[in-house]
Amino acid sequence: MIDHTLWLPYTQMQTTSTPIEIVASEQEYLITKQGTKLIDAIGSWWTSCYGYNHPTIVKAIQSQAETLPHVMLGGIVHPQVQRLAHRLKALLPADLNHVFFANTGSEAVEIAMKIAIQYWLNQGQTRTQFVCFEQGYHGDTFYAMSVCDPVEGMHHIFQDALPKQLHTPIPRSKEALEAFKAWLSLHKNQIAGVIIEPLVQGAGGMKMHTPQMLKEIDTVCKELNLLLIADEIFTGFGRTGSLFAINQAPIVPDIVCLSKALTGGTLPLAAVVARTPIYEAFLSDNPEAALMHGPTYMGNAIACAAANAVLELFNTEAWQENVQKIQTQLQKSLAPLSNSAKVKEVRVLGAIGVVELQQNIAHNKAWFVERFLESGIWLRPFGNIIYTTPCFNIKSTNLQQITEAICQHIHDWKT
Ligand SMILES: *Cc1c(COP(=O)(O)O)cnc(C)c1O
Repeated sequence: MIDHTLWLPYTQMQTTSTPIEIVASEQEYLITKQGTKLIDAIGSWWTSCYGYNHPTIVKAIQSQAETLPHVMLGGIVHPQVQRLAHRLKALLPADLNHVFFANTGSEAVEIAMKIAIQYWLNQGQTRTQFVCFEQGYHGDTFYAMSVCDPVEGMHHIFQDALPKQLHTPIPRSKEALEAFKAWLSLHKNQIAGVIIEPLVQGAGGMKMHTPQMLKEIDTVCKELNLLLIADEIFTGFGRTGSLFAINQAPIVPDIVCLSKALTGGTLPLAAVVARTPIYEAFLSDNPEAALMHGPTYMGNAIACAAANAVLELFNTEAWQENVQKIQTQLQKSLAPLSNSAKVKEVRVLGAIGVVELQQNIAHNKAWFVERFLESGIWLRPFGNIIYTTPCFNIKSTNLQQITEAICQHIHDWKT
C-alpha cells in the first residue's frame, strides 16, 4: 500500500510501487525494515562519499548538537562556520576566498546567479541572462530550473513560467568552440554569467567533456569579460578524481557552488564561493550594494561541524588512491557493455560509472530497480542512464557485485 500522505520526489504516486523502507545504514549499506543489507550503488545521490555512519562525522555531529546546534548568522558567527569558510578558501585555488553558506544545491545556484546579477548592478549595468548548456542540471527551484536543459531536462513543462536563458550545446570541437565564441560576443552585454558543471554534467544525462574544453570555455569567458560559475555540486570533493573538477583544467571560475558531498551525505549544507574581485563589487558606502540574501539556517553549526569532519577525512584518508582504484575497476568491468547493441556509450571518470542506453527506460525503470534489489543493490536509473557513484571506500568485491549486476540486467532486459 502506498502512503499518500508522504509525497515522494519525481514520483508518479498513482503508479509507483511501495517504496523501500530503510531503517539503518552502515558503510556502503542501506538496511531495510526486513533486515536486508543493500549495497548503495549511487551513494544517496552521490552525497555519501565516505559511506554511512562514519564515526568521525557521527562524533562531530553529536558533540556539536550538545554544544551549539544553530544560531542565525545575522550579526553572529561561531567557530564551526568560521573554520569551514577558511578551510574551503584554503582548498579552492587562487582568490576563491569569500564563502557564503546556504542549505541546498539549488539554493547555492540561485545565490550564485543573484551574486552575478548584483555584481553588474553594483557597477551600473543591467545584465540578467545566463548562458547554460544542454544536458545541464542545476537544481529544482525556479532560477535553477531555468538553466537546466530546456528540452530533455526534467523541467521542460515549466518553460513558460521560467526566465528565458541562453541555452547552447557544450562545444566539443575547434569549430564548435569558434561558433560558441562568436555567439557569446553577440550577446555579451546582456549576459550576467555562464554556468557550467565542470567535466561531468550530472543529473541531466551524465555527459562528460574534457579538461581541455573546460579550459577553452574559461578562456573565452575571460576574453569577453563574462563571469563563469562552476556548479561543482556533483563533481566537488573528489568525485572526478581531483578534489574539484576545475583542478583538472585547471581553471579559476569567478564563482563556485558546492553541496552534496560537503557533509558526506549527513546534513543539508551548501556553499557559494566567490573570487575577490566579485566580492569587492559588493563593498560600498551604499547599504543596498550588500548581497541581499540570508537563509535562516545558513551556516548551521551542526552541518558545518559535519563538513569540518568530512574535510578532516579528505586530509587523512587515501581518497585519491581509492577513487583511482574505483575508476580502473569501473573501466575494466563496464567496458564489455560497449559491444552491446542496447548500449550507446560507456563513460567512466573517477568514481562515476555511466552506461548510456540506446533507449529511454522510463517504462522499464521499475523492472530495473527490482532486478537490482534481487542482486542486493540499491540503484535507481533515470532517462536512458544506468550509473553508479559509490562511496570512495567501497569494498572492491561490492563494486564488482554492482558492475556484474549492471551487465547482467542490461543483458536480460527485453527492449
Ligand atoms: C544535485 C545538484 C543540484 C541541486 O542540489 P539540491 O541540493 O538537490 O538542491 C545542483 N547542481 C548540481 C550539479 C547537482 O548535482
